Amino acid sequence: MKLASRMSRLGTETAFEVLARARQLEACGKKIIHLEIGEPDFDTPQNICDKACWALNHGYTHYGPSAGLPELREVIAKEVSKTRGIEVKPSQVVVTPGAKPIMFFAILALVDTEDEVIYPNPGFPIYESVINFLGAKAVPIPLREENQFRLDLDELKKLINSKTRLLILNSPHNPTGGVLTQQDLKAIAEMVLKYPDLYVLSDEIYSRTLYTDKHYSISSFPGLQERTIILDGFSKTFAMTGWRLGYGVMEESLAVSIARLQTNSNSCTATFAQMAGMEALTGDQTEVNKMCQEFRRRRDVLIEGLNRIPRVKALLPEGAFYAFPNVSKIGWPSKKLADYLMDEAGVAVLSGTAFGKFGEGYLRLSYANSVENIKEALDKIEKALAKI
Ligand code: PLP
Repeated sequence: MKLASRMSRLGTETAFEVLARARQLEACGKKIIHLEIGEPDFDTPQNICDKACWALNHGYTHYGPSAGLPELREVIAKEVSKTRGIEVKPSQVVVTPGAKPIMFFAILALVDTEDEVIYPNPGFPIYESVINFLGAKAVPIPLREENQFRLDLDELKKLINSKTRLLILNSPHNPTGGVLTQQDLKAIAEMVLKYPDLYVLSDEIYSRTLYTDKHYSISSFPGLQERTIILDGFSKTFAMTGWRLGYGVMEESLAVSIARLQTNSNSCTATFAQMAGMEALTGDQTEVNKMCQEFRRRRDVLIEGLNRIPRVKALLPEGAFYAFPNVSKIGWPSKKLADYLMDEAGVAVLSGTAFGKFGEGYLRLSYANSVENIKEALDKIEKALAKI
């Protein structure tokens, strides 16, 4: 079959492929501990499920407006205004099936073929994939361990030019768990303001899975709200990955364009899921806080355990639920090592290179698994690595 040439430029998310391979091995009777997939292992809190059932039984089963239900847009506007210290109107919010479409739509709406987009590398693979797919120039900004996986401000300054249309930030960061500081964001904001056509896609999906004092968003800096598309959603914070519910907050005219892209693709987001989203944001937050505390406990167990393994070194992540240990001393390419750990140790992890070329020398381990399984995985990894 002859596919359009752009299809050859479309990348993927390796986590789904590794999960499929792990499932195949499990079907053959092999035990696998899953540290590959980026989703909370908790169930969605009961109050949110109850609200969805209520919505299903009360007629929220029809098409809704492309930009989202007005009542949810209002609740999101209030939430984002409060958490980022800015003033957001409901007309600046677009609700999408998961947060991922905001990535796709924002790049589609803002970036032409000759334009450049700066994105974090290692980073969420879909950024690079979509930039390439649309025929724009993908410009990686390396995130280095010696800088706690925060981007280097001097390096960024050199990469920005008059062709740069979009700068993608992700803090807390997948896959490294790194967090940009308030000072980093202030300096980045100053750089952005020098270029009138430069926008920021600020991926804040892990804003509430944070182990530091406070989440900082670049949108909070003077003049930056108009230049920022905040991407956030329900998947990670409320353990709602399968519901497909996310949103973007942006300048009003861009929101109209993005809603139009939604009309042309998904039409709208499932209405009963949006009602559940209202409950998630306005209802009891006890479960969210409990999940975050549990992630912190697992993080400490995993990082301590990794650092006890010879030739492995892991920084303490400040957010999200991933460890990104340096395994370069083992001397194997990361992909070969990840495959080996699956076959030899029965532990599914991702190669750092699944997140871009600057991920070589690293593995990504998701700690969205029980402390018991994490301890068992550490034991198995240590034994398997001792054989190399
Ligand atoms: N942004 C980052 C950095 C992510 O890690 C993910 C999911 O893994 C997403 C966005 C997408 O979230 P959603 O499942 O809501 O589409």
